[in-house]
Amino acid sequence: MKRFIQGEHRGQSTLLPESLDDYVSETNPVRVVDVFVDELDLATLGFDGVIPAETGRPAYHPAILLKIYIYGYLNRIQSSRRLEREAQRNVELMWLTGRLMPDFKTIANFRKDNSKAIRGVCRQFVVLCQQLGLFSENLVAIDGSKFKAVNNRDRNFTSAKLKRRMEEIESSISRYLAALDAADRQVPTASEPDATRLAEKIEKLKTQMKELQLIEAQLNDSPDKQVSLTDPDARSMMTRGNGIVGYNVQTAVDTQHHLIVAHEVTNVGSDRDQLSSMAKLAREAIGSETLSVVADRGYFKGEEILACHNANISAYVPKPMTSNAKADGRFNKDAFVYDATKNEYTCPAGEALIWRFSSVEKGMNMHCYWSSKCQSCTLKTQCTPSTNRRVRRWEHEAVLEDMQRRLNHEPEMMRVRKRTVEHPFGTLKQWMGATHFLTRKLNGVSAEMSLNVLAYNLKRVMKIIGTEGLLKAMAA
Ligand code: SF4
Repeated sequence: MKRFIQGEHRGQSTLLPESLDDYVSETNPVRVVDVFVDELDLATLGFDGVIPAETGRPAYHPAILLKIYIYGYLNRIQSSRRLEREAQRNVELMWLTGRLMPDFKTIANFRKDNSKAIRGVCRQFVVLCQQLGLFSENLVAIDGSKFKAVNNRDRNFTSAKLKRRMEEIESSISRYLAALDAADRQVPTASEPDATRLAEKIEKLKTQMKELQLIEAQLNDSPDKQVSLTDPDARSMMTRGNGIVGYNVQTAVDTQHHLIVAHEVTNVGSDRDQLSSMAKLAREAIGSETLSVVADRGYFKGEEILACHNANISAYVPKPMTSNAKADGRFNKDAFVYDATKNEYTCPAGEALIWRFSSVEKGMNMHCYWSSKCQSCTLKTQCTPSTNRRVRRWEHEAVLEDMQRRLNHEPEMMRVRKRTVEHPFGTLKQWMGATHFLTRKLNGVSAEMSLNVLAYNLKRVMKIIGTEGLLKAMAA
């Protein structure tokens, strides 16, 4: 081992006792965690146990447990059992907690019981970012991503899956019964073991069928006709062509520094109803009067875009390509120009499509327009296979048209969206690895995601203004 750097001998006594503080440099992120938590008003945030009980065994202060969790998520140690181990051997954690070593149950219960307060802590850091002027562009990108739940796919049931399973069991029972009949007709000595085995199998399938019938009763009672046995709040949802049982995490990310301004965990698989609520959360977090939000086609929904418009939020959401006419090579609706003063459309042949009637479709007040000249039109084959080409217009269509004009004027918005949202979700998924959420139910999962988001934002801000800069900002 000569000509290599040599370590100390394990038996060597240290002559001068070193303090834990000597092991933690002035710019160590663990100091940020310490100062950040010390500056929080944990009682106002709603943490349990801020005021100690008069009697009984003294408990850990919530600040200690919160520091352990924030440190853990910053260092990709999310499990309570691993955090317990780290508290016993990790010098930074010893420094942070004053060598307190709570057991894993205490650590896990803290996260479970303080979900709402932990979400508040995450919001507090966003407030600090806002005070530091990190959201100056007033533009956020909204996106959602699916994260796996504890629930295995086999323990989640939809009506179709349940029906399929029941049919499979029924056909197996019929097959075994037929085999049992055949076995009965054979010589008794030879068939006896076979018959017993088949009867056992049939009995087992009947038990499974009873279990499925119980699940069917639960499924009929559930509003979205889905049952998850391990995590009752987890839902089966599609992601990139594959189904997972999990949660849909929505984020609003600022386009300047890629900080997560607002987030929400839902168990609704679709993004269509999320735009206005996320935009409003983001605007509240940024503390601005106006806000622009950009999102992908999955968020396009007239009512949601109107809600943003009414809240003085400018939305940028491209329209999904769902036109049958365009797919069939006929004129798209874009080829018809609306004249608001006359309340009529002009078609590619230059004819006027006048207002005919209004109706309510899926809760939306729609106006219908057509021209009487279609029968004699030379462009009819390129326009419609029906008697007349009918154009429908939502009563608030002008809001959607304004948004399309903004998108045409600023085509770079979609590129901004892409490069903004990929960063946080890519990082969060990498941190969580191939695993799933560790907790069950929406409450626990929300707390977990808040800790992940807080860790992500802390790391980003430390990267942007440096650990010293952040420490100074928090102490100010
Ligand atoms: S078919 Fe009717 S709506 Fe279409 S271009 Fe001809 S006149 Fe216009």
